[in-house]
Amino acid sequence: MRSPFFRKYLPYFIMIYMLAAFVWWAILLMKKSEEIYQTKLALAKLEQIQEQKNSFGTKQNLIEVERERQRMMIWGEGAVFTITLLIGIWLINRAHHREIEASNQQKNFLLSITHELKSPIASIRLALDTFLKRDLENYQVKKLSKGALNETVRLNELVNDLLLSAKMENKYDLEIENLNLSALIEQQVISFSKMHPNVEITKNISDSTMKIQADRQGLVLIISNLLENGVKYNYSNDKKLNINLLEKNNKIFLEISDNGNGILEKYKNKIFEKFYRAGNEETRKTKGTGLGLYIVKEFVKFHQGTIEVKSNQPKGSIFKITLPKTQKDNK
Ligand code: ADP
Repeated sequence: MRSPFFRKYLPYFIMIYMLAAFVWWAILLMKKSEEIYQTKLALAKLEQIQEQKNSFGTKQNLIEVERERQRMMIWGEGAVFTITLLIGIWLINRAHHREIEASNQQKNFLLSITHELKSPIASIRLALDTFLKRDLENYQVKKLSKGALNETVRLNELVNDLLLSAKMENKYDLEIENLNLSALIEQQVISFSKMHPNVEITKNISDSTMKIQADRQGLVLIISNLLENGVKYNYSNDKKLNINLLEKNNKIFLEISDNGNGILEKYKNKIFEKFYRAGNEETRKTKGTGLGLYIVKEFVKFHQGTIEVKSNQPKGSIFKITLPKTQKDNK
């Protein structure tokens, strides 16, 4: 079996060899062309001596024009070959890297989905097993049932995310309605705070009746996913979130920032890809499938908006969304 080193560097060796071969052939051709030129010149001189004519100057001119033409041909074709080869190398290299990335992503996806499916199923099974095998006190039954119920919620969310992301691949029909965005955010914050009472949330909402034409489910998923991530990717006990909402020039600017772990520059574009999770799945501690930000980005795109991520100061991330206030007909 070929070693990874061999697999990684063999294409580069072949490319370098081909480029070196091109240069070598070009030099050889130039040398041969020079030799032919010198021979033709010597022949022309001999002919002049034999025939005692004075036509050497014209012949020499013709030979020089011929040599110049050949030189141009060698350089021109050499350049075309080299450029074509370099473009080919670049394309192959790009395809190779994409293939590696796709395979890593697939591996990450399988690992995370397997984990996300297996662990709630195992917990529910354990709870049911305990009910069967042991006579439990009422409070114990309640505690176990609550845990199992939470796991079914998690499973349901996972299945919903998978179905939604599959739906998004095809045409997704938004249900556009006139919404009070400020009120919707307030509601989301209230239900989020119930689940995460220790998280400090600050808001900066310029208008308490800010209107937007949008799909309610889409907006709820955008806000809840960004809030959840801001807490999930903060391994410290000091968890803070900030929401900024502003309207300008018929556009809505929504910023959700956290003081969490932050995102490395190299991951900032990738985290919006389907199933992408930064780092390595095997070493990652957090639960997730890499679908949340993909769903967020797709909903923003469906609303003709944009999303970007920046680093927060002194630490954390800022997700900045721009949405048009009104929707053009997208049917
Ligand atoms: P999941 O949370 O299921 O992994 P997401 O699509 O929501 O999927 O996020 C993709 C990746 O982006 C995460 O795995 C995480 O590495 C990174 N990420 C998302 N939000 C944040 C955040 N607020 N802070 C730090 N990293 C984040």
